[in-house]
Amino acid sequence: MVEIDALIIGAGPAGLSAAIYLKRAGASFLLLDKGAPGGKLNNIHEVANMPGFLPVSGYDLAVSLYKSVEATGVELTYGEVLSVKKEGDLFAVHTDVEDYLVKGIIVATGFVYQPLIPGEKELQNHGVSYCATCDGPLYRGQEVLVYGEGSRAEEEASYLSSICSKVYFLSKGEADGKEIPPNVERLFHAEVLALKAENGEIAVKTLLSGTEKDLKVKAVFPLYGEKSALSFLGGLGVEEERGFIVVDDTMATSVEGLYAAGDIAKKGLRQVVTALSDGAVAGNALAAYLRRKKRG
Ligand SMILES: Cc1cc2nc3c(=O)[nH]c(=O)nc-3n(C[C@H](O)[C@H](O)[C@H](O)COP(=O)(O)OP(=O)(O)OC[C@H]3O[C@@H](n4cnc5c(N)ncnc54)[C@H](O)[C@@H]3O)c2cc1C
Repeated sequence: MVEIDALIIGAGPAGLSAAIYLKRAGASFLLLDKGAPGGKLNNIHEVANMPGFLPVSGYDLAVSLYKSVEATGVELTYGEVLSVKKEGDLFAVHTDVEDYLVKGIIVATGFVYQPLIPGEKELQNHGVSYCATCDGPLYRGQEVLVYGEGSRAEEEASYLSSICSKVYFLSKGEADGKEIPPNVERLFHAEVLALKAENGEIAVKTLLSGTEKDLKVKAVFPLYGEKSALSFLGGLGVEEERGFIVVDDTMATSVEGLYAAGDIAKKGLRQVVTALSDGAVAGNALAAYLRRKKRG
């Protein structure tokens, strides 16, 4: 078991930013990831809303971010975290490579999309998107479809309604009587059965209140497959809301010494800039926590 002050789990934008702040505060820690540094950025064709950058490929942005971390002397350690348990006031972290005993942790593992609809996987980055703020502007003035429910799906539909000509908003659940913009067609008891590319559009096979109907749209935002990456926290009893970790304004969670940053945290806007900001706040807060622990 390796003993170290702290671990950052996840080297996406949130974890990379946290690493810079922790390092500058003089903390000893490891930055762990089960994949390449940059997280989801590595799969994004273009990021066009990153202040300080003209439109840049996600990969290039990931490389830039990682270089600024390396410049502080921090290097990525490979490892997939499989479980985190409390051991007294320390955390025992089990990975597929090594086990660690640490005083503090920043969880920056983002969240993933599990394709659930036949045809969805094949159309990722070709009309299937999971982020209206990121990709919505590509479909300005066109018809799109949101498939999901709850406040996150409502926000995505609302955002798209302000830039797209029409938004089909399909949910499996019951009608909720909420007010919607005039260009949103709200359909309940609805299922998306299959997606297929057809002449530059997406043919969407749906089941609306038991009747099959085909729709044609330019893009589909399927949100039922969102899955947060926090199963490894199982036994800790950390407060979460629909898979996202509840944090305070220092990114502290309900478990002392455990911080969360980026997409995994419960918040309103999941973007690179907000992940970077969360990472900075969490890194700073964890450094202060470690100093308090040292003083006793
Ligand atoms: C299609 C798409 C397009 C987007 N476009 C934009 C855009 O144009 N502009 C913008 O600002 N944002 C965009 N975003 C959102 C942006 O990518 C995220 O908000 C950002 O990447 C979140 O950073 P993060 O560090 O929280 O998580 P992630 O980037 O998801 O990084 C999490 C990291 O944690 C690692 N990890 C997960 N579980 C474990 C584990 N158990 N052990 C070890 N490591 C683990 C993963 O390997 C990954 O590297 C887009 C998202 C998508 C899906």
